[in-house]
Amino acid sequence: MGDVIRRSGSRIAALRRRSGWPSELTLAHYALISCIFTVTYLGLEWLTRVHELEALGITLWNPAKALSLGLLLIKGVAYAPVLFLATLLVDLFIYGAAKGLPSTVATSAVVALGYAGLAITLTRGLGFTMKRTDLRNVIGLLVTVPAGTFVIASFYCILLVLFGDLPVKQYWEAVPHLWVGDTVGIVIILPVAMAVFGSMRHLLDTKPWVLLIDAAAFLAGVLIALWLIFSVEEANDYHFFYLLFLPVSWIAMRAGFAGTAAGVCLIHLLLLAYISWGGYPASTFMSYQLLVLALAFNGLLLGAVVDERRRSDELLREQHVEVARMTRHATAGAMGVSLAHQISQPLTNVAMYLHVGRQLLAAKPEEPARISDSLEKATTQLRQAKEILERLRDFVSRGTLRPAPTDLGALTRKVVALAGDDARAHGVSVRLEAASVPPVTVDALQLEQILINVINNAIDAAAEANRAPGSVTIRVASMDKGVRIEVEDNGPGVSEAVAQHLFDPFVTTKQGGMGLGLSLSRELITAHGGTINWEHISSDGGARFTIELPSGPEDAHGT
Ligand code: ADP
Repeated sequence: MGDVIRRSGSRIAALRRRSGWPSELTLAHYALISCIFTVTYLGLEWLTRVHELEALGITLWNPAKALSLGLLLIKGVAYAPVLFLATLLVDLFIYGAAKGLPSTVATSAVVALGYAGLAITLTRGLGFTMKRTDLRNVIGLLVTVPAGTFVIASFYCILLVLFGDLPVKQYWEAVPHLWVGDTVGIVIILPVAMAVFGSMRHLLDTKPWVLLIDAAAFLAGVLIALWLIFSVEEANDYHFFYLLFLPVSWIAMRAGFAGTAAGVCLIHLLLLAYISWGGYPASTFMSYQLLVLALAFNGLLLGAVVDERRRSDELLREQHVEVARMTRHATAGAMGVSLAHQISQPLTNVAMYLHVGRQLLAAKPEEPARISDSLEKATTQLRQAKEILERLRDFVSRGTLRPAPTDLGALTRKVVALAGDDARAHGVSVRLEAASVPPVTVDALQLEQILINVINNAIDAAAEANRAPGSVTIRVASMDKGVRIEVEDNGPGVSEAVAQHLFDPFVTTKQGGMGLGLSLSRELITAHGGTINWEHISSDGGARFTIELPSGPEDAHGT
């Protein structure tokens, strides 16, 4: 039983979906909205019987059509029958049934079907939504509404002619009459609803006193323009109407689409009040409606452009924030990798010296001097790791190095001694040819790391030399205003696969290699105003890495 109910429920839901009936719509909900709409529709029609044409219900100002289109756009075309009913009631009770019943039914059907078609064209055809005030949406509305209302007005008047309610010769009087009333009604009122639904955020974000000043300036401009239009000139001359474009442009620039929609609506109401009160003829009224239409088009488009510009500015700001966040993450990541790379060597040495110390303690406890020497070396390596951490911290926080005059000869000797154990383990001989060189202003610890890396690479390569015993030669020599360090090996040479990108990060041919040593080395050497390059020694293999450093900051180029 339960199954049957569920199945028939889902069949009804499918039927509703196919017919465009919103799935969340209950009958009570539908009835309530329909009642509110019908009462408001009737009230608006009754209030706005402005220059009605031949008691046919065709007026020059018809905001009820904005309400109709708004309902169909927001709530869906399922409400078209309600519009049909409301139009019928208006004809029967407000316009006194000047037309016969068949004509009333037919014209009401044209209104309901026409506006349903307009709503479908806007939403499904152009992707229009009341919540967006971007240029595409606004242009869609401003083009489709006048075209759609013209088609509806044409069919409406054809029916009136067919049913004998309108003389044929009055057809081209009735169509523009109806078109102007409906179009102005929609173009003035609907954007206010769009602003309420979608683009109030900017207005709400603006400081109240700024809004107040903008509104006061707008109002002053409008009142001055209206005073000039109606007092200085004859009302049907419209000479000064263009003055109204100034306050509208101002409010569009300041308050975007929402401000313009409200401003144009206010201007229109003021104009309507004045013209109605002044008893101006229909022709004057029509001319003012057309001028207001032009004013609304201009203002709303400008407002939409201003909103769009604001939105893209906001997007740009958000993107900047995002890029900065991503850069911070990338830097943090790179820093972490670089840190791991730089301290892994000393930590490996610590482990090695502690291991040697433990073995000595087990095997030769009577030789404390050798044990103590091993522990001392481990301590030195730990100190070095600590210093690397401090240097990196300084580099991150201040972006600075700690350069000091350094004896490169002594520094190279120290590095070669450090590399000695590793070279011996790989069966590689290391030779140092150090001439006496002038002191160089560098961050000694950073340079030490660079040299360790380049020499270790050379030892790794030389260890692969098949034909001859592996050998690495390090030369330190002075050059004009600086010092040159060469690290040469007789390994297989730099592999073709990586030769073009040797100094890029994460380029490696080694199992477990990180490919960061050379990229960090180039970065640090460049920061010292120096250079690092490499070359093949011969076609048989071998590589030579050359580091050139200026003797002092005054000799550095590019720093
Ligand atoms: P890693 O040692 O972690 O691979 P490096 O940036 O220090 O990172 O080196 C990058 C690559 O450069 C190495 O994997 C190797 O292929 C190549 N390379 C560096 N030095 C030499 C050399 N002396 N001989 C041949 N190839 C080398």
